[in-house]
Amino acid sequence: MTHTLSDQLTPELAERATSLLRAFGADIPEPGELVVRTPITGGTLLTLRPDTVETADAAITRADTAFRTWRTVPAPVRAAVVRRLAELLTAHRAELGELVTLEAGKIGAEAVGEVQEMIDICEFAIGLSRQLYGYTMPSERPGHRLMETWHPLGVVGVISAFNFPVAVWAWNTALALVCGDTVVWKPSDITPLTALACHTLLRRAALDVGADPEVHQLIQGDAEIGARLVDDERVALLSATGSVRMGRTVAPRVAARFGRCLLELGGNNAAIVTPSADLELAARAIVFAAAGTAGQRCTTLRRLIVHTDVVGPLLDRVANAYRQLRVGNPLTDGVLVGPLIHAGAHENMRTALERALGDGGRMVCGGERVPFGDDSYYVRPAIVRMPAQTAVVREETFAPILYVLTYRDLDHAITLHNAVPQGLSSSIFTTDQREAERFLAADGSDCGIANVNIGTSGAEIGGAFGGEKHTGGGRESGSDSWKSYMRRATNTVNYSTELPLAQGITFT
Ligand code: NAD
Repeated sequence: MTHTLSDQLTPELAERATSLLRAFGADIPEPGELVVRTPITGGTLLTLRPDTVETADAAITRADTAFRTWRTVPAPVRAAVVRRLAELLTAHRAELGELVTLEAGKIGAEAVGEVQEMIDICEFAIGLSRQLYGYTMPSERPGHRLMETWHPLGVVGVISAFNFPVAVWAWNTALALVCGDTVVWKPSDITPLTALACHTLLRRAALDVGADPEVHQLIQGDAEIGARLVDDERVALLSATGSVRMGRTVAPRVAARFGRCLLELGGNNAAIVTPSADLELAARAIVFAAAGTAGQRCTTLRRLIVHTDVVGPLLDRVANAYRQLRVGNPLTDGVLVGPLIHAGAHENMRTALERALGDGGRMVCGGERVPFGDDSYYVRPAIVRMPAQTAVVREETFAPILYVLTYRDLDHAITLHNAVPQGLSSSIFTTDQREAERFLAADGSDCGIANVNIGTSGAEIGGAFGGEKHTGGGRESGSDSWKSYMRRATNTVNYSTELPLAQGITFT
């Protein structure tokens, strides 16, 4: 392999990252020990100074202080900040998308799609600001009113993963702000520049509408800095997105201080393809879900459970499409698969493939490294036929590996489908309504997301997003996910002159 490409490209990319930060109005960070690399070449874009324990604690204090006032601002007025943020994101959509590509390696269309998702959730949150409804229930006592009211919770700590560096922050922040919470964000230390850009835009949005910019704080650094949010009593809700390993560490610590946790952890998503499926449609959906974002989505399709009657024709189509996928620099037009995030991700993929082959798996295609430079990791997405759902198949390997299993009986397919620790996203491809309904029923897919005739990835913001089992049980984004960001009070009002007790109790 040669250094040439990466040597030529890295300074150009670094310069571009700096000029993008300037375009957002961000201060160029002082050099420091946090090294920001681009997965495109593996070279350094910038370095910055991470937060210390003291500066992180000070940020939590500022957010806590800002909360005291922010919670009293009417929700539709709070929404003005989010509306302005949506305008700024729209104006900077392409630039922010480009920064996502530089830092996370996503192809342009997916990076801009992520920014669009931010704009979508802002629109949702603006409407929501007038719909934070509480129920009024009939009281069993005459002259009484029974109702519930929803109040802001406090400081929301947001810990996010590298692979959705901006959308997941927006899901949390747009909702938290209209709900009256303030936010302290600890992004992945792999993607601090996109975080800096978003933070700058949000503060600008607040200032533009006359709101307190301190409602949003950014702290940069590794897990140790994130731990400040985990352990601080003032952080009422910790919304943490990342690996199951991370969730396993943070959840008990937040529980120990009776804080609330919203966990969005790893997935191991599967699709069942039945004999009645439209194979052409299924193949297209499978290719996007399994190979898109180089297999680095929490919702990436990792397991394919195919009826034995159609496995041949389906795999022919999918493998054929795989062979035509262009792998390379995500800034190049026509490239559909960008780099893995770093050497560790490549090593994990290599090891998983080795284990799968050791378990009797057979490579259908892909898996090899595509030369680009010594320090970047491009791979051809892999398909492996497996004789059984072995341990490696039940794990999430954050890389483009699609394991293929076969079935004869739908009940068996659903059993296989659910026999993994994670429970994020799932699909069935079928034109038989009975099969579709069976998959969506209580004894069907056990995932938080269950689709029919579309892939496992690419959720819309209108629905609640999240998964069960080791995925953590959290729900973000649409539907009534906002309730996680508020506290509920049940109010009983006596407007009579009597004092009847509930359950007919007399106390005289
Ligand atoms: P990661 O777990 O390595 O890191 C995620 C974040 O957690 C980072 O900001 C990291 O600094 C922080 N962190 C890690 N350990 C911590 C600790 N002990 N205390 C406090 N903070 C800690 O994950 P990653 O490699 O950045 O992202 C990939 C993983 O995230 C995959 O497993 C993927 O499935 C998952 N993910 C899930 C969703 C979802 O919505 N379910 C979305 C995106 C990514």
